[in-house]
Amino acid sequence: MEHNNMLKNDGLPLTPAAWMLGVRQLDALSFLDEELQSLKDQGLYRVPRTLSGQQRARCVFDGRSVVNLSSNNYLGLASHPKMVEAAVKATQELGVGSGAVRTIAGQMDLHKQLEKKLAEFKHVEACLVFQSGFTANAGTVSCILGREDVIISDELNHASIIDGCRLSRAQIKVYPHSDMDGLRQALEEAEGRRKLVVTDGVFSMDGDIAPLPEVVKLAKEYGAAVMVDDAHASGVLGRNGRGTVDHYDLHGQVDIQVGTLSKAVGVLGGYVAGPQKLIDYLVQRARPVLFSTTHPPAVTAACIAAIDILIEHPELIDKLWQNTEYFRSSLRNLGFDTGKSVTPIIPVIVGDERKAMQLADELFAEGVFAQGIAYPTVPKGKARVRTIVTAEHTTEDLDYALQAFAKVGRKLGLI
Ligand SMILES: *Cc1c(COP(=O)(O)O)cnc(C)c1O
Repeated sequence: MEHNNMLKNDGLPLTPAAWMLGVRQLDALSFLDEELQSLKDQGLYRVPRTLSGQQRARCVFDGRSVVNLSSNNYLGLASHPKMVEAAVKATQELGVGSGAVRTIAGQMDLHKQLEKKLAEFKHVEACLVFQSGFTANAGTVSCILGREDVIISDELNHASIIDGCRLSRAQIKVYPHSDMDGLRQALEEAEGRRKLVVTDGVFSMDGDIAPLPEVVKLAKEYGAAVMVDDAHASGVLGRNGRGTVDHYDLHGQVDIQVGTLSKAVGVLGGYVAGPQKLIDYLVQRARPVLFSTTHPPAVTAACIAAIDILIEHPELIDKLWQNTEYFRSSLRNLGFDTGKSVTPIIPVIVGDERKAMQLADELFAEGVFAQGIAYPTVPKGKARVRTIVTAEHTTEDLDYALQAFAKVGRKLGLI
């Protein structure tokens, strides 16, 4: 049978509206209308705001000039001139695309250069870059473990780790967030061929840091491997932003480190850092490597330039932490609940879903963009407005935001 339902009997194409009408009569997706309505009824339906111009500390969203507390552009690298220059140069020399998956079309010199640089930066034998932090996590966990294995995972781990666990078909044991007694109990009970303990380094919705030295100690005791997802620690924690392993001085003791190139590094991508044999195996078996095209030259070149900037300009990270301390202590002094945050991720915990969304909306009206976050990104009843300060914010930017928080917080009875 031919796919000719776009044509009228006389062979002329239907207008899009007439075509949509035809589709609607046999709408097999009507259940989505109900799902969408249900989200709206619960106040959980969000429309992404639209940015005009660059992703900066002050920028224009939905036509309004705001102090931006929503991006992961921790160091302002997303529009760094040296990285833009590197991306343009690589595009002019090498083109806009990379052709196909690496194991088929081959990899470029540039991809090898980035991986070598990252491996040196992280003090590990080898590194493999993925299309995103998401594919790095999901691709790695699902690749190295199988049905006979056990994964022991913190309850607040990122969705990409959870998806990787599910794809692996391994048994999944979830322990209460950063609870070392819970981890010990899970390890005690874990029976399987291979065991992996996996945790975020910095938790993305709470801004707390995993107790990695204790995790490593317990995992060793029970013969389990350790994987840390440093998405929010890359470029933020440790010397020159080397991550949580460097922060705790645990070099050589964490088997698998995942990092992202999409947040503080300012571009896009994820990487796995570890022993050569891990990388060799991922190249053979990780599905995002085998079945999805690798980065274009512009992305790769910009990431290479970013690592140089991290090494040469540690003052950017110092500024990020100064801003973090100032903003967090000021929010606390105003009476807001910032939870367990000790990093530039600073949640303002509200609880009620609608109220959190209302706080975000009213802040936006006051010229402050901080995203309201609710279930399923955080547990029900733990809704919040999440703020992220960057090295780019000036004291005036932060004071402006604090004034808006004070005004709206009082109005909503939060402080
Ligand atoms: C953002 C994030 C990822 C995904 O990284 P991308 O590069 O954006 O795909 C993975 N893990 C954690 C903890 C994250 O916060």
